[in-house]
Amino acid sequence: MQVLPTHNGANTKECLPLGKLIVLTGPSGVGKGTLMNEILRRYPELHYSVSATTRSPRPGEINGKNYHFISRSQFEQLVTQGEFLEWAEFAGNCYGTPREAVLNHVQAGKLVVLEIELAGARQIRHTFPSALSIFILPPSFAELEKRIRGRGQDAEEAISLRLQRAEEEIVAANEFDIKIINDDFEQAVKEIEKAIFE
Ligand code: ADP
Ligand code: 5GP
Repeated sequence: MQVLPTHNGANTKECLPLGKLIVLTGPSGVGKGTLMNEILRRYPELHYSVSATTRSPRPGEINGKNYHFISRSQFEQLVTQGEFLEWAEFAGNCYGTPREAVLNHVQAGKLVVLEIELAGARQIRHTFPSALSIFILPPSFAELEKRIRGRGQDAEEAISLRLQRAEEEIVAANEFDIKIINDDFEQAVKEIEKAIFE
């Protein structure tokens, strides 16, 4: 595999003059996507940043809505062109946040939400110290495993990679502004609303 340049923006600080950047992170399977969908349903004025990924679409996922599904060579080209605000490799695939779309929406005064994994969330915190960062925790590791398996959309190898990564991610929770345990779904949604709007 080609070695990609270092992550974009990692050594520069950028300012966000008008809107607000919100980073939602936490281990795979904790419920980030489900929580995000509910928040977006309640607050359609929020802008959800659609990432690019080299992962194949899961059943029901729509290109351009859930992700921009692209090849690894397309991804590498975008990295080289500096098109990502951040990017990371996760469980064998690459994921990246489109720079221009996010900055345009923030500059237009919008609340922009990124739902990304730990390495990317760290990059964003470094580049945009004013971003609000939220870490979603599972009630227990056993429950996290149950949710990943219950989702029924990943192969066994992908599940074990995600669980392995989850152990490393959970210990980083204290780095983030706000920690929310996604046990009772409604309660977790309320806590996210409070973090974003109060
Ligand atoms: P992520 O986006 O973090 O990978 P998902 O949103 O895909 O996680 O959620 C993983 C699974 O957990 C889904 O089947 C979802 O319905 C379920 N889930 C989400 N929140 C809860 C909750 N509070 N209690 C029980 N199951 C949940
Ligand atoms: P999934 O394959 O389950 O959709 O996503 C795997 C992980 O990648 C999740 O933790 C998700 O939040 C994260 N992710 C999605 N988009 C991005 C992105 O643009 N950048 C980074 N760093 N992580 C992302």
